[in-house]
Amino acid sequence: MLPNYDLIEKMKTEYGEKIACISIGTAGEMKMCSSTIACTDMELRPTRHAARGGVGAVMGAKGVKVIILDDTGMKMRPPKDPDKFKEANKKWVDGLRNHPVTGQGLPAYGTNVLTNILNEAGGYPTYNFKEGRYVDAHKISGETQAETENARGGPGSATHGCHRGCVIRCSGTFHDKDGHFVSKQPEYETVWAHGGQCGICDLDAIAKMDFMDDNYGLDTIEMGVTIGVAMEAGLLKFGDAEGAIKLIDEVGKGTPLGRILGSGAGTTGKVFGVERVPVVKNQALPAYDPRAVQGIGVTYATTPMGADHTAGYAIATNILKVGGYVDPLKTEGQIELSRNLQVATAAVDATGMCLFIAFAVLDQPETFQALIDMLNAFYGLTLTGDDVVALGKQILKTERDFNARAGFTAQDDRLPSFFKSEPVGPHNVTFNVTDEELDQVFNW
Ligand code: SF4
Repeated sequence: MLPNYDLIEKMKTEYGEKIACISIGTAGEMKMCSSTIACTDMELRPTRHAARGGVGAVMGAKGVKVIILDDTGMKMRPPKDPDKFKEANKKWVDGLRNHPVTGQGLPAYGTNVLTNILNEAGGYPTYNFKEGRYVDAHKISGETQAETENARGGPGSATHGCHRGCVIRCSGTFHDKDGHFVSKQPEYETVWAHGGQCGICDLDAIAKMDFMDDNYGLDTIEMGVTIGVAMEAGLLKFGDAEGAIKLIDEVGKGTPLGRILGSGAGTTGKVFGVERVPVVKNQALPAYDPRAVQGIGVTYATTPMGADHTAGYAIATNILKVGGYVDPLKTEGQIELSRNLQVATAAVDATGMCLFIAFAVLDQPETFQALIDMLNAFYGLTLTGDDVVALGKQILKTERDFNARAGFTAQDDRLPSFFKSEPVGPHNVTFNVTDEELDQVFNW
């Protein structure tokens, strides 16, 4: 078995450094539910992962360890209408640069800019979703992280594109106190999963776990939530960073305990008799408490992919006030919000664009139009805004049809019951969207 970083070094020796790799780590080789597919970044490091849903296990099951991309001799594909493409692209780039999230927040602090925002809103899940605010959040916030990265790695370490041509540049590099590479800048979800979820407020330990997850090929959300469930089970104490690091090592090496943990939070909860297990469709909940942000709860419950914030990012409208405002603590408007976001997201995902463009697209009609104009000019299409909505609906319909044939029913479109019975502070609120309302999300 070969971890991702060692694998890439081997591929560099064999094929040179002008390649890109798509690979699985040891977790994928063992066909674990938490395994990812890694893609190399601009520095040829395996840091960008298709992480959710255990996709690494699919490559593992097919016996595919790595796919090497070598574009030697290839030319750039020209757009069908270069002038129109150039014109639309200029509007597009201006739109991304002018929006406060894609032009300022993300480039300065990365996705971890969300830690202070969610903590302030009382929606930062802490100690396996027991509390909505983490007293030590400031120690692991995006502001602290960016300052640390720039001080250790030099100015600009927190402002980096994960691939050529990105306008937003929300990525970065994390170095240790002596200036040595530790990992790429851990994302908000990762910092939370290994941080607040486990009561760990040490950025160095979190960056180390981020590296281990990338190296073994593990979903950082699933691993962090699983460790939080293991802490709830009494395997180790909340806040035990060294213990958490050891558990990830067990997973990467495939020990019997590691294979249980690598099967994810749902399995770990069952094995150790934990009742409070934050999963939907056996996938761990991400970094937003659905009681304090009811719209994201609707997305977690109903998206065909299992608990997934990216499938309909209601945080945008509930918390960041992007694309309007819906009160996060009330149930009114959340079904419609999640539905519209899930439709739009399915379509944006189909373009191959990074999802972070959605902030500008949701808020600025001219930026949405620029995206459509770019696609039309590049491919010679005549897509309209209505076509994009129809595409999103068709994708969701196909996914739900797949799930139905795999045996999923409306009963799987639910949050774990503790979210309805246990109020979370500081707002002392439960998840109040009814099952009947949830069943209306896809009734358009
Ligand atoms: S905005 Fe998207 S593409 Fe750009 S650096 Fe961030 S994750 Fe990568």
